[in-house]
Amino acid sequence: MKKENVIIVENLTKKFGDFTAVNAISFEVKKGEIFGFLGANGAGKTTAMKMLIGISKPSVGNASVAGFDVYKNPDAIKKNIGYMSQKFALYDDLTVKENITFFGGIYGLSRAEIKEKTAVLINELNLQEVSNKLVGSLPLGWKQKISFSVALLHQPKIVFLDEPTGGVDPITRRQFWEMIYKTANEGTTIFVTTHYMDEAEYCDRVSIMVDGKIEALDTPKKLKEKYNSQNMNDVFLKLARSPMNN
Ligand code: ATP
Repeated sequence: MKKENVIIVENLTKKFGDFTAVNAISFEVKKGEIFGFLGANGAGKTTAMKMLIGISKPSVGNASVAGFDVYKNPDAIKKNIGYMSQKFALYDDLTVKENITFFGGIYGLSRAEIKEKTAVLINELNLQEVSNKLVGSLPLGWKQKISFSVALLHQPKIVFLDEPTGGVDPITRRQFWEMIYKTANEGTTIFVTTHYMDEAEYCDRVSIMVDGKIEALDTPKKLKEKYNSQNMNDVFLKLARSPMNN
């Protein structure tokens, strides 16, 4: 059975004055797909993502996310997606349990649901020892894993991850990606930006943005064939003008 498209983007454009940050991009993402959204610094990824999560109005073009139109129903989009970034994750001065309760409340979960989800999350992530500790005292990798789980509390159709593993050690990054696979296998779509090219290899499909445009979009395997490259880093370097850091 053909999987439905949960993100449909047509000619999406964002201008700031005379400057075009996102220039007529078009693509679709399927249910349960892990879609890597790559580009060098300043390529336009964050600007595009902001339009897709309903917090910034496009200048031109159309997009539908989780079945909702970005112009007509941005609030419905927010309710049906999860979002996590390296920059904004959890509150350091709340405990693990308090963070889960807080975000569960924001996402509109009942007290009973929050209690149940808290128990499941603590068990799955093996957080029994630290559930009453302040999040600020935990290693970054733990924070990011908890943050990812929190972004899934309300069972969104799509989760947007903006450089979720930035600054995290390779073993924890690998564990993080195992969580991503599990989530995608359960039918949740993953839209992820990353600066780590080994992570680009883990995506079902990857788009590479250069100066506001999507220059390439395909499976990592096909991209490597097309650009005659051994790995995604090489593909990226051939496409993007400035090499990525890290
Ligand atoms: P990074 O990896 O550094 O986050 P990015 O691909 O997410 O980069 P964007 O943050 O989307 O890139 O920025 C794309 C371009 O748009 C940049 O040149 C940036 O300076 C510009 N830009 C972003 N927001 C605004 C704004 N509000 N006003 C004017 N220019 C902006």
